[in-house]
Amino acid sequence: MLSDIEIAQQNKMEKIQVIADKCGLTPDDIEQYGHYKAKISFDAIRRLEAKPDGKLVLVTAITPTPAGEGKSTTSIGLVQGLQKIGKNAIATLREPSLGPVFGIKGGAAGGGYAQVVPMDDINLHFTGDMHAITAANNLLSAMIDNHIHQGNELQIDLRQLSWTRVLDMNDRALRNVTVALGGKVCGFPREDHFMITVASEIMAILCLAKDLEDLKERFGRIVIGCNLAGEPVYVHQLGCQGAMALLMKDAIKPNLVQTLEHTPAIVHGGPFANIAHGCNSIVATKLGLKLGDIVVTEAGFGADLGAEKFLDIKCRYGDIFPDTIVIVATLRALKMHGGVPKQELNTENVEAVTKGFSNLQKAIENMRYFNVPVLVAINKFATDTDAEIAELTRLCNEFGVPVELNECWEKGGEGGIDMAKKVVELLEGPKPTPKFVYDVEDSLEEKVNKIVTTIYGGDGVIFTDKAKKQIKQLADWGLDRLPVCMAKTQYSLSDNPALLGAPKGFTITVSDIRVANGAGFIVCRTGDVMVMPGLPKRPAALNMDIEADGTIKGLF
Ligand code: ADP
Repeated sequence: MLSDIEIAQQNKMEKIQVIADKCGLTPDDIEQYGHYKAKISFDAIRRLEAKPDGKLVLVTAITPTPAGEGKSTTSIGLVQGLQKIGKNAIATLREPSLGPVFGIKGGAAGGGYAQVVPMDDINLHFTGDMHAITAANNLLSAMIDNHIHQGNELQIDLRQLSWTRVLDMNDRALRNVTVALGGKVCGFPREDHFMITVASEIMAILCLAKDLEDLKERFGRIVIGCNLAGEPVYVHQLGCQGAMALLMKDAIKPNLVQTLEHTPAIVHGGPFANIAHGCNSIVATKLGLKLGDIVVTEAGFGADLGAEKFLDIKCRYGDIFPDTIVIVATLRALKMHGGVPKQELNTENVEAVTKGFSNLQKAIENMRYFNVPVLVAINKFATDTDAEIAELTRLCNEFGVPVELNECWEKGGEGGIDMAKKVVELLEGPKPTPKFVYDVEDSLEEKVNKIVTTIYGGDGVIFTDKAKKQIKQLADWGLDRLPVCMAKTQYSLSDNPALLGAPKGFTITVSDIRVANGAGFIVCRTGDVMVMPGLPKRPAALNMDIEADGTIKGLF
């Protein structure tokens, strides 16, 4: 089997105008970035508003192994499969971050024969959205430090700033830094922090804003910390929301690309699902619903993280709701949940599959809580044995959930036909009525408690003293009636990565609470989750190279 980059290099892409035409966009609707990428204009988006919506399919997964279980691959394979059976399908996906690309997990443009292309561009700088977000975020940081340096008219308390700088790189050395050293001309020295760009509130805002105007208003509402009197300080008081929006004038427009089989795909916005809300932009998904009869979108990590936030945050703000949910399961993840060590995941172990089913079962129950039809898609790996696949199929049948084998990584759309047919069947059912885990008017404690007990299967929540103070402050500010964005490890339903399967009898500890008022949610940090990841012992960067003629090597 060829590597992902070799498969992508062998593929003959269509010019992007051809893809645009396929989904009803005119040459004037798109702004081309080279031959194979384009931004879609807001004129087009507005023109299409009156069109009826297609159906929405959400792809989520079992609690994953560190390698990922194939949600992007399955989403892409599913639209390729839908196209094979004559459906007008479109994928809406997240943009990859450079952190995982050079770290351990790899790119996020799918894999095998189910990829979006040009995969090298999409995984690297793409159309510059990630850089624009970094610039807008750091412009605000510079404006804050400059405001303090120039006399601090707003009386910003520099000991209580919650706004941090960002960089789109896994760089643990930047987690805690001291800025403004160097004497009077360099400002007031203070502790600062870096997050990875995809955890930034600017990224969340890009993904939740309706348009440029809404983006600017949301920037103005961002709370950067408080003043010496303990009152919140908003970006509109600094007055730089316009300049920040200016930096994002192109980033707000969704990006059109194609799959290896020339299906249209919109790749736009890319917050992580553990430390952020984990879904591509609302603009992209809503546009997809106008352009395709079936839209396949993905939410990051397991169903407890990305999918919960997709449903409770993105669907609430976007006024959308999935018609079907596909849960990606792999035998290696089931075996991991069944207690098999990492190095033995490729060895047959039917018993561990049976044992590890508890995690998949919880994901199914969680998605059924929302009253949406569910399909389990077994993402087939070369090492999976017939006996293991038969056991997983049996377990799904016994539990009464539809299940299909998904071979799109190896066979492209052809390998996704059965899954596509089943999805079409499920989409024929009645439209689900939106349902959420909590009410935004619930107290913050109540909202977190409902997520923990309903979705994670825990007994309850412990708020540290610091978190309790932060809750009181948000209540005093009147900013606590917002949806919740849990920041939690992706490796367990609990906040302890070592608890596999479907753990019981645990509590979740919330140690830090921040309002992302521009995005419109409250971030609750649990366990030891990091907002700036580090590189592993052997980063993927060590396998990468580019030759004199521009040929890329080792980008997966
Ligand atoms: P997720 O979206 O769930 O994080 P991805 O679709 O990005 O997962 O896949 C993670 C990695 O696993 C990618 O490098 C992809 O190429 C690889 N992968 C996915 N499915 C398969 C498969 N069936 N066989 C081998 N590798 C796969």
